Amino acid sequence: MSTRTRFAPSPTGHLHVGNIRTALHNWMLARQAGGEFWLRVDDTDAERSEERFVHAIRKDLAWLGLHTDGETRQSERLALYEEAFDTLRDAGRIYPAYETQQELELKRKIQLGRGLPPIYDRGALKLSDAEKAQHEADGVVPHWRFKLGHDEAIAWDDGVRGTQKFEPAQLSDPVIRRADGSWLYMLPSCVDDIEMGITDVLRGEDHVSNTAVQIQMFTALGAQPPRFAHEALLVGREGKLSKRLGSLGCDSFRERGIEAQALVAMLARLGTALPVEPIADIEELVETFDLSTFGRAPARFDDAELDRVNAAIVHQMGFAQVSDRLPDGMDESGWHAIRPNISTVPEAADWWRIVTGPVEPRDFDEETRVFLATAEDLLEWSDTPWQDLTATLKERTGRKGKALFLPLRQALTGRDFGPDMGELLPLIGEDRARDRLRKAAES
Ligand code: GLU
Repeated sequence: MSTRTRFAPSPTGHLHVGNIRTALHNWMLARQAGGEFWLRVDDTDAERSEERFVHAIRKDLAWLGLHTDGETRQSERLALYEEAFDTLRDAGRIYPAYETQQELELKRKIQLGRGLPPIYDRGALKLSDAEKAQHEADGVVPHWRFKLGHDEAIAWDDGVRGTQKFEPAQLSDPVIRRADGSWLYMLPSCVDDIEMGITDVLRGEDHVSNTAVQIQMFTALGAQPPRFAHEALLVGREGKLSKRLGSLGCDSFRERGIEAQALVAMLARLGTALPVEPIADIEELVETFDLSTFGRAPARFDDAELDRVNAAIVHQMGFAQVSDRLPDGMDESGWHAIRPNISTVPEAADWWRIVTGPVEPRDFDEETRVFLATAEDLLEWSDTPWQDLTATLKERTGRKGKALFLPLRQALTGRDFGPDMGELLPLIGEDRARDRLRKAAES
């Protein structure tokens, strides 16, 4: 069976950097194996799921360059869950439970007070038929639990964490369906993974104990469990998943001038033994993707590192990749001149203003004004006006280094530093250059 992975967000909010990373890794895993990557919209929670978030998720994946080979939605697959539910109930693997939330909480408190782990005591399994009938007669609608096989050892070889073993008796039988008939995450996810032919489930380590339960569900449904891998969670520089990190989505990155390639390059390697590098070609990242390089320690997300990766990516970007985001009139040579001086594409507009003007007037001393007047006199237009001008000025005035270059840059651009003048002066053009030198000489 060829590799098929899925990314399964709940459309209850925007994707944040943590789930963007999960999506990317699943995409890479599939891509590397020549397999498929699917989007599964986990929208069984009708109240909290919103269509606008489904659109936003699709848009974000497209922006990131993560092509999906198909999409499924849990809300359209309820009949499948119903069927699996019947199968498991008939096999005695699902049972009704009548406890209220308060009763369950009280039981937990008592267990904890006695120093015992708060595992569900299977009270519902001990009810006699008469007691169950009484509950029903009292109008108590049951919720439903999956019955873990206590003799059925749970173990898997996790792609990141290595051998994982769980003692089923140490786990609570999970509630899989609420009294109102709605589904919790656990069973629908299993049913979908089977039905969609998912071969590899790669997700955050907060799902490890869910996997333990789901492995028994796969088996109970007569299926071979997929391969599992659980990556360490993403944390901020301060060491935890902060609110800020949890709200950082593609829109906020875009607004900050972060390129999709930069985010991809960073998230592809973060938390692995491989170095984070400004690799713009996603295929190169795919080639080096390797679950065995993933560490167990939380992956630290650092904004400053992302900014550095972004700047290095921007410096590699070709004109065609950015042309629709550049100011009017800025052409390929303009982009090449300015590119080394910017960390984000929108910053190009700031530098482009020094080409189109007007430039910030400066105060020059008498001697410098004379020098700038000489510069205007000697300016001759050619393919290399800057090189010619500075060579002639050096010869005539004896100035060199900073004394030669800085006043010219200041007069021509209004700034003390900036893009290479050799590239910039042809863009400024003869008329503007003369005008700026004259104004500076007369200032
Ligand atoms: N909707 C679940 C989540 O976002 C999916 C988990 C999974 O990958 O199975 O946590």
